[in-house]
Amino acid sequence: MVGVGIAVGRRAPQEEGHVQIQNLIDGAWVGASDSSSLRVVNPARDEVIAEVPSVGVAETRSAIDAAWRARVAWASRTAGERGDLLSALAGLMHRDADRLAALMTSEQGKPLAEARGEIAYAASFLSWAAEEGKRLTGDIIPASAPDKRILVLRQPVGVTAIITPWNFPAAMITRKLGPALAAGCTVVIKPSELTPLSALAIGELACEAGIPDGVVNIITGEAGAIGDVLFDDDRVRKLSFTGSTRVGQMLMSKASKNLLRLSLELGGHAPFLVFDDADIGQAVGAAIACKFRNAGQTCICANRFYVQDGVYDEFAARFAEAIENLTVGDGAREGVQVGPLINDAAVEKVESHVADARSHGAKVTVGGKRVHPKGLADRFYAPTLIKGMTPDMVLAREETFGPVAPVARFTEEREAIELANASEYGLAAYFFTRDASRLMRVAEALEYGIVGANDGGPSTAQAPFGGVKHSGFGREGGRYAMDEYSEIKYISWQL
Ligand code: ADP
Repeated sequence: MVGVGIAVGRRAPQEEGHVQIQNLIDGAWVGASDSSSLRVVNPARDEVIAEVPSVGVAETRSAIDAAWRARVAWASRTAGERGDLLSALAGLMHRDADRLAALMTSEQGKPLAEARGEIAYAASFLSWAAEEGKRLTGDIIPASAPDKRILVLRQPVGVTAIITPWNFPAAMITRKLGPALAAGCTVVIKPSELTPLSALAIGELACEAGIPDGVVNIITGEAGAIGDVLFDDDRVRKLSFTGSTRVGQMLMSKASKNLLRLSLELGGHAPFLVFDDADIGQAVGAAIACKFRNAGQTCICANRFYVQDGVYDEFAARFAEAIENLTVGDGAREGVQVGPLINDAAVEKVESHVADARSHGAKVTVGGKRVHPKGLADRFYAPTLIKGMTPDMVLAREETFGPVAPVARFTEEREAIELANASEYGLAAYFFTRDASRLMRVAEALEYGIVGANDGGPSTAQAPFGGVKHSGFGREGGRYAMDEYSEIKYISWQL
């Protein structure tokens, strides 16, 4: 275990065993002024692996001060200069990918192969934004009078608060950090208290890349206390949040005090439809990837499967076989495909959803219980297939956030669309068909921000990611992300 008192911040990041555990404020690595700390636990082993500062009002204010002071100089740099620094940071993440992936697995639990994938994915947001910042253009609009000119400029929103969850400890940060910095904003990042080490490691690489002091600040600690300072300070102009709908709603109301610009990427409850004319092999492969990635702890993972009568038996049989073949264990072991859930509460939630489904008459045909890999914590849940899902079951309405796939039958296309849209959420939806007309019809009818048409993995840096309804608003990724971090200024010029 590494503790807050140990001065580790000056060592080279790539050095074997180095873990940054201090906070980054104005280019300096600091602890909490009252020395309080948070424990970081390896979920697979239930072992404390580090302690990071639990900062309060004073440090949060210092982070805002630093971001505020740095903002003018940062915004004055050319987009090319900012892009070069973002590219350098992306390059360092690639250089240190193995170290960062191992760190992520140790604090989050996901299999190493997925953690490596996430580091590459996380870096891709920086590389994309590095280029896209150069295309943040304005307009000159034909005016209403001969002696007038109408100019439209894009300017950075300003100091941006970034609050992120634990399920993608690196990518949820860079997806915001890339476009924020590219647009000329400075940031205060508060990562999840469960996975702060990946965030701090990225901060360290940001320093090594040469991103100026104060542009990126990272603080760890009790969420409510930090949040209250961020929302109370009118120098903070924007909140970009990824997390639960419940917390998002609460933060939105707090953010109303200073009328913050908001990007909210909240919960989801993705339907996964398989039509009679689907390529069943393709659908099963996508279902496995989409449902069991990160042990089902992703906001776009499929939560409910609806399969048309004609292919129901074949799909269910092939899906069951593929689920049975998944390897559960410590994500740090090569070959493991499903790691632990993040904490005890997460396992209990999965158990309660499965128990509720059983009590409403569902049949658990694969899994349906905890598994106990030798020498590890009691946090592993068997990849599970449930048949006979009905709308009155909790898992048909609420995010399970675990490795549980409930399946139901449908007969008509219209019925499938109604089932899919009968949710308060609207983040991602998936469907499988080889009929081109149906593909467009269903894609248009689904009330979701992201639609995977014969695709279980839609996330990529160049595409707009975000939801509708209770899944929030705002888009991350691609050129759309730049809108979230820039304001439009209209200059009316009389000659
Ligand atoms: P998840 O469980 O997926 O991490 P949460 O919505 O619980 O989702 O948390 C997402 C992020 O929001 C975390 O970084 C958490 O610390 C933060 N958070 C939770 N409550 C507050 C709050 N009152 N103020 C600011 N941040 C908060």
